[in-house]
Amino acid sequence: MNTVQPAGEVRIVLVGTQHPGNIGSAARAIRTMGLDRLVLVAPERYPHPDAVAMAAGADDVLAAARVVPTLADAVADCALVLGCTARSRRIALQELSPRAAAARLLDAAGPAAPVALVFGRERTGLDNDELQLCHAAVHIPADPGYSSLNLAAAVQVLAYELRVAALDRAAAGAAAVEARREPPASHAQLEGFFDQLGDTLEAIDFHKGRAPASALRKLRRIFLRCDLDAREVRLLRGVLADAQRMARLAGGRGGADG
Ligand code: SAH
Repeated sequence: MNTVQPAGEVRIVLVGTQHPGNIGSAARAIRTMGLDRLVLVAPERYPHPDAVAMAAGADDVLAAARVVPTLADAVADCALVLGCTARSRRIALQELSPRAAAARLLDAAGPAAPVALVFGRERTGLDNDELQLCHAAVHIPADPGYSSLNLAAAVQVLAYELRVAALDRAAAGAAAVEARREPPASHAQLEGFFDQLGDTLEAIDFHKGRAPASALRKLRRIFLRCDLDAREVRLLRGVLADAQRMARLAGGRGGADG
């Protein structure tokens, strides 16, 4: 399994699901996005062969799914509970986009703090008592004229947003680690490199009688744009040293370091 995982458990909760095929499809939807915790609140027909059939390769998620009698049981230990609704409700609940919801869930999820994303029944969604248990509502901004997605499709949209948010965070973390690994090259290191580059261009007869200043200016611009670190400058200087050595062997004019 891909190792990009939220820091804590993100629990997908399906309340009162009527069609067992949707449970299987939801298991598959979350499994493809690297999630694996499924909780079923009083499903109407479960276990059921349709669930297994629609789960396809995600039967491990299905097999591990917990079945509980009420939504309160499913979310009792959760630090954050978000409820997905196909339409705006009368109850006063902050409404989040799927993207904002994914960010909130990843922020709140910790080793001792599971978070839950709750989905309602195919026919009637979540009832008001169930929405009262949620800290905020999540609405996929679908066509207002027909905003009700298939249950598993809604699960897929939210699972995808969680995946993208987790990947973005992993990439940002890796970039930060990468950036910390080696300090940027100092002015003196860069100037040492440019001096050696100038000498090397002479040694390999790059200018062929033209004034060297213009080429050197352009080359400086290229290398300054690269935001080189100290190790990269050492690598480039190693390349130049070899070029200078080869030029000497070939009977050229040699570099300043030779
Ligand atoms: N007729 C129901 C629709 C239920 S669809 C109703 O009007 O509430 C089944 C579940 O899929 C919903 O309870 C919700 O959790 C999710 N869902 C469907 N469309 C959604 C949307 N546009 N935004 C957020 N969740 C949605």
